[in-house]
Amino acid sequence: MRIAVVGAGPTGLFAAIALARRGHAVTVVDRDPGPHPDGSWPRVGVMQFHHPHAFRGPVVDALSAEMPEVVDALLAAGAEPVQVTPDAVAGLRCRRMVFERVLRAAAAAEPGVELLRGHAEEVLAERGRAAGLRVDGRPLGADLVLDASGRSGRIGRGLRAPAEGGDCGQAYVSRQYRLRPGAEFGPLTMPIAGVAYYPGYAAIAFPHDNGVFSAVVMRSGDDRALTGLRGTAAFDAVAAAVPLLAAWTDPARSTPLTGVLPGGRLHNTWCGQLDDRGEVPLPGLVFVGDTVCTTNPSAGRGITTSLLQVRRLLALLAEHPGDPESLTRALDAWNTAHVRPWFDDHVACDAGLAARWAGADVDLDAPLPSDLIGAAAAVDPSMMAVVGPYLAMQSLPAALAEVEPRAREVYATGWRPPVPDGPTRDELVELVTRAAGDRAGVPG
Ligand SMILES: Cc1cc2nc3c(=O)[nH]c(=O)nc-3n(C[C@H](O)[C@H](O)[C@H](O)COP(=O)(O)OP(=O)(O)OC[C@H]3O[C@@H](n4cnc5c(N)ncnc54)[C@H](O)[C@@H]3O)c2cc1C
Repeated sequence: MRIAVVGAGPTGLFAAIALARRGHAVTVVDRDPGPHPDGSWPRVGVMQFHHPHAFRGPVVDALSAEMPEVVDALLAAGAEPVQVTPDAVAGLRCRRMVFERVLRAAAAAEPGVELLRGHAEEVLAERGRAAGLRVDGRPLGADLVLDASGRSGRIGRGLRAPAEGGDCGQAYVSRQYRLRPGAEFGPLTMPIAGVAYYPGYAAIAFPHDNGVFSAVVMRSGDDRALTGLRGTAAFDAVAAAVPLLAAWTDPARSTPLTGVLPGGRLHNTWCGQLDDRGEVPLPGLVFVGDTVCTTNPSAGRGITTSLLQVRRLLALLAEHPGDPESLTRALDAWNTAHVRPWFDDHVACDAGLAARWAGADVDLDAPLPSDLIGAAAAVDPSMMAVVGPYLAMQSLPAALAEVEPRAREVYATGWRPPVPDGPTRDELVELVTRAAGDRAGVPG
């Protein structure tokens, strides 16, 4: 088949290589020119490109199954596997830029894949089926079109039933640092990150490749008093005051590699394949990746849910040859059963966190959200037999139902997740306000 893919992000590139290896002729259209000759890569259309990404175990599994040499190339580029046991990899420590550069190079070298720079303006239709794309005014014929245009993609807008969800209620800023020679990463609380939650904000450190890491401060999206965190002086003051970040960003350990990167508002969204009548809007057009599901990035699940969709699509293409309508329906049913639960899980967790950040206690009259069930494993480690696979995305959130009653017992005793040492949210506001004031006082 001739396959046109809109978007050369992780979803489109992974799909293109895997499809070409199944004998298809694939053209990937993206308006981004790729890395500049000097090695920089602004990636204007993907706001999260330079924000920290954690690559979870299922991402490594997907690459290992379809294109194992890409895993080797990532390791050669400095990515570090997170080895939890001799046979289990919990993820990869790697900058998104490094990940995508390696994947893009693999796609460019893949016989059967063409990377075309351009703006895909429209999906073309003939006799009620997708027939290709219009790219910068010119037709590009295709038997199958994949829309992997990401969370801001517009090309398929209006064809499907409206997306559910929206703002997840949190916003964040991040900054990249590089370790000084001989220094090691700071403390981790889980295999892929160091995380500290406080009432009203959270601090996260993500180790990447080649001694690079990111520090993140997450706040309520409505907490206007903390918007000043995007200023360098304010971010530095906060990073020095929050013990987890202070350990990582200690000038004796590391130096900043970038400025402070504002992350904007973050979304939990779900959009199936079908239109609002439950029909396939255009047989031969399939939506994949962030065009289907986005989740609060603090849990680092987006690329996993994206590649899981593509892996399923690959299997379904073999099961539904020549029947694009049943292909789309089958993918939609699978996504609803296996991807949508992550969206629902984030919506529930984020609503609970927002309420607790606003001062509410754990609500024992409602089902406990997954993050609180997971936290209770600190009291009863036997729960980890169920919580561990959920955290690794090897089981769906519904699996936690088995230990929810035990978690409820834990919270009924009055136990609450301990708050680490560090400034309160009000003290953080003071630091941010003072840094902004000091800056305002600097003679221009
Ligand atoms: C702040 C933040 C942090 C994140 N952290 C993590 C993390 O730690 N771990 C994780 O797994 N996920 C994370 N995610 C989610 C992850 O970034 C996404 O899941 C991922 O980018 C999805 O890839 P994609 O290929 O579907 O879309 P994208 O990466 O958005 O790529 C879409 C591509 O389509 C192109 N495009 C769009 N429209 C057109 C058009 N009409 N014509 C031509 N080209 C077009 C764009 O230029 C872009 O290159 C994070 C997200 C955010 C917002």
